[in-house]
Amino acid sequence: MTDFTMSTDADGVATIVWDTIGKSMNVMNQQGFLDLDALIDQALADDAIKGVIITSGKQGTFAGGMDLNIIAKMKESAGDDPARGLFEGVMNMHAVLRKIERAGMDPKTNKGGKPIACALPGTALGIGLEIPLACHRIFAADNPKAKIGLPEILVGIFPGAGGTTRLSRKLGAMGASPLLLEGKLNDPKKAKAAGVVDEVVPADELLSAAKAWVLSEPAIVKPWDEKGYKMPGGAPYHPAGFMTFVGASAMVNGKTQGVYPAAKALLSAVYEGALVPFDTAIKIEARWFTNVLMNPSSSAMIRSLFINKEALEKGANRPEAPDQKVKKVGVIGAGMMGAGISLVSALAGIEVVLIDSTQEAADKGKSYTTAHLDKGIARKKVTEEKKTAVLGLINATTDYDALKGCDLIVEAVFEDVGVKADVTAKVQAVTGPDCVFATNTSTLPITELAKAAADAEKFIGIHFFSPVDKMLLVEIIKGKETGDVAVAKALDYVRQIKKTPIVVNDERFFYANRCIIPYINEGIRMVKEGVEPSLIENAAKLVGMPLGPLQLVDETSVDLGVKIAKATRAAMGDAYPDGEVDEVLFWMFDQERLGRKSNAGFYSYDEKGKRGGLWDGLAAQYPVADEQPDLITVQHRLLFAQTLEAVRALEEGVLEDIREGDVGAILGWGFAPWSGGPFSWLDIIGAPYAAERCDQLTAQFGERFKTPDLLREMADKGQEFYKRFGATAKAA
Ligand code: NAD
Repeated sequence: MTDFTMSTDADGVATIVWDTIGKSMNVMNQQGFLDLDALIDQALADDAIKGVIITSGKQGTFAGGMDLNIIAKMKESAGDDPARGLFEGVMNMHAVLRKIERAGMDPKTNKGGKPIACALPGTALGIGLEIPLACHRIFAADNPKAKIGLPEILVGIFPGAGGTTRLSRKLGAMGASPLLLEGKLNDPKKAKAAGVVDEVVPADELLSAAKAWVLSEPAIVKPWDEKGYKMPGGAPYHPAGFMTFVGASAMVNGKTQGVYPAAKALLSAVYEGALVPFDTAIKIEARWFTNVLMNPSSSAMIRSLFINKEALEKGANRPEAPDQKVKKVGVIGAGMMGAGISLVSALAGIEVVLIDSTQEAADKGKSYTTAHLDKGIARKKVTEEKKTAVLGLINATTDYDALKGCDLIVEAVFEDVGVKADVTAKVQAVTGPDCVFATNTSTLPITELAKAAADAEKFIGIHFFSPVDKMLLVEIIKGKETGDVAVAKALDYVRQIKKTPIVVNDERFFYANRCIIPYINEGIRMVKEGVEPSLIENAAKLVGMPLGPLQLVDETSVDLGVKIAKATRAAMGDAYPDGEVDEVLFWMFDQERLGRKSNAGFYSYDEKGKRGGLWDGLAAQYPVADEQPDLITVQHRLLFAQTLEAVRALEEGVLEDIREGDVGAILGWGFAPWSGGPFSWLDIIGAPYAAERCDQLTAQFGERFKTPDLLREMADKGQEFYKRFGATAKAA
């Protein structure tokens, strides 16, 4: 059995069917390439075969992409010269695709050759589009659910099997840039409008249309193999092309702040490739691709954002328990979070009972889903029928009896132990003993809240981030007595709503907030010290954080910060370390500069709420010092503040798996994605350097930078987190 099989019909058209064994969607691996290559050789050599159609054996999809584990295999294939292994491996892929593209034509005259069409029943991503791009004509079934594109840039690499070179030659640098640089995916009709696929046909005519084309003796020479080929929109030295490339380069640097090696390398591959013949361009692409794959940032991004993210989504840390798929969820509290939780649940087809203390509040929560669907209708992404069906799943009410039959409750009422305890008792008087009760608290200990529950084993934290419909991460928190079924329930639910879960233990602020608060605090602390606020904000952005710490305070609100500070101080007493931070925060609160919501915060806002520059009134209270720290020092303070907290969370057993620490950091609060997450970052810079740097920061700025014992030990032993704590090994 192989992933590719070929059969030839009476008219001499060979059909190669890709059907990866044991997977629901096709993925390319090394053996797959060898098999495809052998079949292409056979088809080209067989005089009875007039042409070829490459298609998929999977219903409604073509391919999901490359098995990225292939990269590690290529690296290993050349012993101590991994770059050579990569380059040769990539060039081998190019050879197969180029063979398809040239299809036996005479290299000089371009005569001869056999037409090769690609027929896409649906989704075609990554290598799943690079193969079609090497074919002579791409047919796509009119399947509106299909996604067609090259998303590689989103995991820190770029399309390296000819996709970069072929697409930029097919569409021009400008036309290809949203597809290559942003990883934009299109449905078949939009892909045709963008020029990516050549024809969109009804699904049941896909193969017949491709066959008719193959038999029509079509011209098959690619434009770039013709004499006098000119890149659409102009090559770099053409006046129009020049503008495109200058603009693209500025845009890439503006968007990535120069921290993502793949975006720069991609642009270089397109730019340099545009100046030379196709076969040389492919080699250039392969060199840049190798360069990117050798960069530790790319490996870390692939590991966290592709391999580990997927593993967590598939239940890598799910305890053994029968299927816990949710059928009916009760959401208590129809405020900001409850409204979002109802939306994502109903979109996943789950029946929702949305409860608040007044009917008005419950209806308001449901109206969030209505507004979301209406936006979708305006954008032609949602139909009226879908809207009716989704809204029909949400029962907004004040009647707790409606919760009968729920197998999961997600509570999102006010952040108050007493209110939550009341609600828990009221809910459990209606639901049976098997119903799992989850709280969306962001600050209250789960074990404490579980005391109000009938059965602490069935009580758990499911912590969403705001806005619920946009944020990809969900943090699942086990209280001391939380049982396996509750964990499995939470994980199965998160899977249903298509988000990424991490499972952590119950300590103050769990994982994400625990790490993000020190980041914010470090930024505020620097304001107090007289560090120029624009230096703080820009240092954060230049190291890859999506928001500077001061902007983050504005977004989450100063009053929330004040509330958390007061509660933490009350809980910690004399050990509370953040008095200096509070001074600034409380002063802002007194000035009624609460952040975006009050149109005034560390930043200024206009009447419409549009954010302007940093607020200049800050300097009157906290003057900017004459001497400013260097950029790296500010960046290290901001990064270590978060990273050391992640290490402490691991040491204390809050985190049980560093993969969750890294994936959670990127998806939860945007920890510099280029680094692959805090643990990957420590592996990139090395534990010895990290420990040394912490010692310096401690001496200069205080005990909060003290090297955690675990990091010290790893520095002494020269260890790496991913080697020591491996893919599946538990830390604690
Ligand atoms: P919110 O104030 O917007 O909504 C709370 C809702 O609960 C209100 O509609 C209120 O009427 C309702 N409510 C209060 N008491 C009730 C009761 N006894 N019975 C039924 N309904 C009741 O608050 P929110 O921002 O949605 O936060 C809700 C929970 O989610 C809190 O525990 C909060 O800590 C947590 N959380 C919030 C965020 C965030 O960014 N806002 C993020 C993660 C978690």
